[in-house]
Amino acid sequence: MNSILRNDKYCTILEEEEDMFSDVCTNDGKKLWEYGIVPYVFNDNVSDELKKLVMEAMKRITRVSVIKFVKRMNQRDYIKISDKGKFSSYVGRIGGKQNLHVTKDEIRWPNTVGSVMHELMHALGFYHEHCRPDRNEYVHVGRTSRNYERFKESDVLCYGPYDFESIMHYSEKQGVMLIPGVNARIGLYVSPFFLFLLLPSSHNNIFPQLK
Ligand SMILES: [Zn+2]
Repeated sequence: MNSILRNDKYCTILEEEEDMFSDVCTNDGKKLWEYGIVPYVFNDNVSDELKKLVMEAMKRITRVSVIKFVKRMNQRDYIKISDKGKFSSYVGRIGGKQNLHVTKDEIRWPNTVGSVMHELMHALGFYHEHCRPDRNEYVHVGRTSRNYERFKESDVLCYGPYDFESIMHYSEKQGVMLIPGVNARIGLYVSPFFLFLLLPSSHNNIFPQLK
């Protein structure tokens, strides 16, 4: 198995907002970044090597979207990227400074760029794909923590078909199994491209070129 496809460890969604689990992709305009511009700063503890990987993750997202990551000048809302020996992020823009945690540990997280992209996608407003209301038609999720909780249909806005290859989809090692008869691969963490098929209409204004 290609080591780049393994993701034994999962990230943690930071808990601050009560309603942060109300959508697969947020349809709350307040959680979106104005004009798709995301200011960021690095904490001093992020090595140059890790910075380069974060920049690469940003580049891969900007290549397929109109999102722009810009170094923070004096913007009120921004992401502070720190090395905390783990991966975690809030979902969407929460207002003011918001932490986003990354690390470089290729034993536990072999695909650093993919893992960083996953966290950046959270910060852009995306939830885990395997938490969609229709997920039980495709996968069996044996775990019950917040990272696995299935959304109610009435609470979310899903757009497009279930995306097995989404960078927001956990792998079997992370506790998400394909149900018998479903032929797909999951937990690929290869690209956010497929994820963009799932954008709710409220995101169209920040990803206008994506149909
Ligand atoms: Zn996640």
